Amino acid sequence: MIDHRRLGRELDLFVSDPLAGAGLPLWLPAGAAARHAVEEYVRELERRAGYRHVVTPPLGRRELFELSGHLGYFADDMFPPMRLSADDEFVLRPALCPHHALVYRARGRSYRDLPLRVAELGGMYRSERSGVLGGLSRVRAISLNDSHNFCALEQVGEEVRDILRLIREAHAALGVRPAGFRLSLRGPGEKYVGDDAQWARAEDLLRAALDGVEYTEAPGEAAFYGPKIDIQIVDAAGRESTLSTVQLDFDKPERFDLSYTDSGGARRRPVMVHRSLVGSMERLFAYLIEVHEGAFPAWYAPVQLMVLPIDDGPAEAADALAAEALAAGLRVEVERAGSLGARIRDAARRRVPYVGVVGPREAAAGEVSLRLRGGRVLDPMPVADALAVIRGVVGSRSHVLLP
Ligand SMILES: [Zn+2]
Repeated sequence: MIDHRRLGRELDLFVSDPLAGAGLPLWLPAGAAARHAVEEYVRELERRAGYRHVVTPPLGRRELFELSGHLGYFADDMFPPMRLSADDEFVLRPALCPHHALVYRARGRSYRDLPLRVAELGGMYRSERSGVLGGLSRVRAISLNDSHNFCALEQVGEEVRDILRLIREAHAALGVRPAGFRLSLRGPGEKYVGDDAQWARAEDLLRAALDGVEYTEAPGEAAFYGPKIDIQIVDAAGRESTLSTVQLDFDKPERFDLSYTDSGGARRRPVMVHRSLVGSMERLFAYLIEVHEGAFPAWYAPVQLMVLPIDDGPAEAADALAAEALAAGLRVEVERAGSLGARIRDAARRRVPYVGVVGPREAAAGEVSLRLRGGRVLDPMPVADALAVIRGVVGSRSHVLLP
């Protein structure tokens, strides 16, 4: 059966070490290269959509999380506070929202600033019990693709629809196939903040944004501060989890006393929209490794081009090809050790999308023979043409290996 933990080991993407701790995986160079390509893509997608990126620390004073409500409603999922002195305790954050509320509040805001989209790929922590941890799918240190979009109430509908569009675009580029959209609502019980009128209004806004989308309703799955749209994925073992999410929050703007000046000069309260396009890097990669069986689209493959010189003669040509590919922004390796057949098999095992074979004849002609992942071999072509093919596929984030 396909299992991201086994593939992660075979492809040298990540390891877990009991000395580091359960649920605290280490990303190896190949995994980190793929992850960085995805992070850069998401940041660029957000930048083009008007998001403003910030950097905030993964821990903060206890009082910050008392104010946000996390210590009151969410303490069971958090690591215990760390005490420096009697009146100085720190908390590993379980979410980025408290810091982003402080970013909003760092200066006066007017209606012209809204929607203000405060985005960060940031660290947060959950005290998951060791029994439920495994590979990348359940971890204790989480790197979340997060944003908090502060809007006027009348902007919320369009903002949520824009977010759903961005989610679809990111899913298409990455190869995510959602199992379904879910409207997560309050259930019975006391663990929710805010009054009934706020909840009803937030639910109405989300239902309106989902107009034309097929979805199910899930009572009891809301966040403690508001209803949300969750986009579900199913892993190779059939387990369902949430990847992307859009959540409405009327509560934190109250708690942090957030405001803006409207066009008439009056002070008004913004709505906070928590959203993640692709979830955490950990859960996303647990899913991507399985759905692609390790054969990522070329744009985020750890090594995009493996150069194989046939014998010692064309070593210089192979190095020149690799240098040119590197300068063109590609991730490239040259492999010399072993027979050509063994090296081609190794590149296939590592799911490298392009193998460039350089023999004496290719070296003399300034050419390279490209082999595509899957086994197809192209006729020798000039080095510049081969690099143009690869760059074209990578640049368009295509899922096939020829333009
Ligand atoms: Zn949040």
